[in-house]
Amino acid sequence: MLNERCSDPPKDPENFKDFWVFLEQNDGKLSRVALEMAGIGRKLADKSGEKLVGILLADDSGYDMANTAFEYGIDKVIFVKSPILKHYRTIPYSTIIGNLIMERKPNYFILGATHNGRDLASRIAVKVTTGITADCTELDVDPAKKLLEARRPAFGGAILASILCARHKPQMASARPGIFKPIDPIPGRRGELEVIESNMKEDDVVTKVISVVTKEEVDITTSDIVVAGGLGLGKKEGFAMLEELAKELGGIVAASRPAVDAGWITRDRQVGQTGKTVNPKLYIAVGISGAIQHIAGMKGSEFVISINKDPSAPIMKYSDIAIIGDAYEIVPKLIEEIRKAKASPKNNEAAKSN
Ligand SMILES: Cc1cc2nc3c(=O)[nH]c(=O)nc-3n(C[C@H](O)[C@H](O)[C@H](O)COP(=O)(O)OP(=O)(O)OC[C@H]3O[C@@H](n4cnc5c(N)ncnc54)[C@H](O)[C@@H]3O)c2cc1C
Repeated sequence: MLNERCSDPPKDPENFKDFWVFLEQNDGKLSRVALEMAGIGRKLADKSGEKLVGILLADDSGYDMANTAFEYGIDKVIFVKSPILKHYRTIPYSTIIGNLIMERKPNYFILGATHNGRDLASRIAVKVTTGITADCTELDVDPAKKLLEARRPAFGGAILASILCARHKPQMASARPGIFKPIDPIPGRRGELEVIESNMKEDDVVTKVISVVTKEEVDITTSDIVVAGGLGLGKKEGFAMLEELAKELGGIVAASRPAVDAGWITRDRQVGQTGKTVNPKLYIAVGISGAIQHIAGMKGSEFVISINKDPSAPIMKYSDIAIIGDAYEIVPKLIEEIRKAKASPKNNEAAKSN
């Protein structure tokens, strides 16, 4: 059967229905990207006239997660339950979801392009012999043709490629975390819950989870204010200055890739095509030229201030305010002015009355 589908498109495309999203969970909690997939899934399922179905693999904690998923827009949750599904493992997850796909025939299936999501998506695509567009930054559907339009940067970010999987189903895409927004949750919203008890046994799984070690990661994607530093800072110590500025503003420090590569700051703070995508209210770019790969990660910012010596740097095009000059002169002055403003009795009165 697999070989037949490998060489030929499905003979019954009219039988494929529903918009599926993978509800990634970690330690019994839906991950942020699961809610993001529910958000974009809701929009596209409505546009395409499909039911929005969340695929959840977990232990007993799945019941609570299913309720959360309904509040974030999911119509139906297919919850495959087993203690062996508590943690992500490639073989059980891809086998179970692959079999479900072949049985239920979804039209669309999207997953977050996290470490586990990338691993899972490609395994499933091979198992069900369909195509996958990885690491998308835009997703849309053509409702008349029931086609998923998956877009992602290509050729080092020089172009945005639109990729269709017109002949095979489901049409699959993994989506970059941090790009799509969850809907505002609707408390008490409920949907249909289908629970499937998995009969897979621990002995059937060759990989064993000995222990789970959580790496402390800074999340730069949820802060309203991001102060990012680049190669123009010239040295690691420049980031201490940005920390001070971020602290005064209640924001978080991030960086361009070369600053990360230079070891001035950790990789979890990298903004851009190969880093994280941020959409803060305020983005301050200090000593960053504005290469297209960097812009890809911050172009959704509401207000951009750039501090750069070079008035012709590309970042100027994306800036609401550009301050031309040396970061080591400008940033300390900014910090001083913010501190003065905070200490001013006028501002304190205003803060109290708010
Ligand atoms: C496949 C691929 C993926 C990539 N992914 C990413 C990514 O995810 N994120 C990313 O950031 N990059 C990424 N890059 C790298 C990207 O192309 C650029 O090289 C990088 O963004 C440039 O970083 P920068 O702006 O810090 O440095 P530069 O381009 O060197 O810019 C430094 C800027 O600082 C200014 N400056 C210098 N001194 C001062 C000073 N004292 N005060 C104020 N301004 C000063 C200069 O005028 C200049 O504009 C990627 C590249 C490729 C090929």
